[in-house]
Amino acid sequence: MPQLPPNQPEARRSVHVAHGGGAYANTIEALRPIDLAGVHGKRVLLKPNAGRVATPGSGVTTHPDVVAATIDVFREAGAEVAIGESPIVGVDVREAFETGGIASVARQRDCPLIDMDRRRFVEVAVPEGRAIRRLKVCPEALEFDFLVSLPVMKMHMHTRVTLAVKNMKGCLWRRSKVKLHMLPPVEGIDEKPIDVAIADMSSVLRPSLAVIDGTVGMEGLGPSAGRPKPMDVVVAGTDAFAADAVACRLMGTDAQAIPHLRMGADRGYGVVDLARMTVTPDHWHEWISPLAPPPENLTIEFPNITVLDNRSCSACQSTLLLFLKRYKDRLFDYFPSQETIDIAIGSGHTDLPEGTLRLGNCTANCKGLGIFVPGCPPVGSQILIAISGKPVDEEDKKSV
Ligand code: SF4
Repeated sequence: MPQLPPNQPEARRSVHVAHGGGAYANTIEALRPIDLAGVHGKRVLLKPNAGRVATPGSGVTTHPDVVAATIDVFREAGAEVAIGESPIVGVDVREAFETGGIASVARQRDCPLIDMDRRRFVEVAVPEGRAIRRLKVCPEALEFDFLVSLPVMKMHMHTRVTLAVKNMKGCLWRRSKVKLHMLPPVEGIDEKPIDVAIADMSSVLRPSLAVIDGTVGMEGLGPSAGRPKPMDVVVAGTDAFAADAVACRLMGTDAQAIPHLRMGADRGYGVVDLARMTVTPDHWHEWISPLAPPPENLTIEFPNITVLDNRSCSACQSTLLLFLKRYKDRLFDYFPSQETIDIAIGSGHTDLPEGTLRLGNCTANCKGLGIFVPGCPPVGSQILIAISGKPVDEEDKKSV
């Protein structure tokens, strides 16, 4: 993938932050110092976070005005621009683009929207991979001249943050994304396999530019069940690791504490050391607005409910977390004789406590005499039907 300057291994990184002007103006301001002369006449693919169906401002998907401003800046520089996404399992990307407002800004600008799952994948070798050796990549991510990552500033319950480097996971084809969440431990590396896999992925899928949307971030139980937090900030830089490191600082954390960023930087894929960057403007520190980290233990967030998560993927996690957020107060009505409830997700279980509520096809075969809800992932309304034994009403259908 061609890189925009300055991105040579020893070059001092430049990262730009804009704050206080709203999504569109902040994006224009953050991109202004970046030399885009190299994109004239080239094809540029914008990869926002549009992997879920969520409205603008919810902190789940990239704000449409950030996408709009990025289209405008690249068009002004003479590039041909398109927007692409491969969403999480079970999401229709057209619906995600529509609901998130990206379809509207694309229509206004006659900018193509690409469902990157439609064509067949390209198999890409990962020679430096420790957790993964091959990836199934959406072809557009390899065909365009430049790839731009436009994530949302979010905390993430498994990878701690999700920013420009991790957003490239949405260039992995269809269900192959799920496999990164189901890897065995990596010999000789203490970090979680998902973190190692993201560092591996960044050896072959690295954006030319990061535009990080902090218009409304997400704290706590990201990537989808946390709390939206208005921040009114955008970060841009040609080294995605450096941009992520600055975003981490704005979120009140440190890139060195984020395993996939630390490992990727140690391997030379980018720079996370703020001392090796020039960040503008000088007073950017004034805009630090710490986001609450994801809880270490879901039992604290949902008292008396124990989530037994063993090698699940984000699709099941999101379903379960959204379900718990909506129904945690009513849940015990369906289990009147129980003081605690065990809920299992993921493929790694061999035995479970009796009565465990088992969610998703991955838990179909494990022992335990509990309710089983099929699906991959299961749908929230199915969980409600299974535990209540009754059809759900229209309002519940919409909310889960
Ligand atoms: S059942 Fe759930 S954890 Fe298993 S692959 Fe499907 S979505 Fe992922």
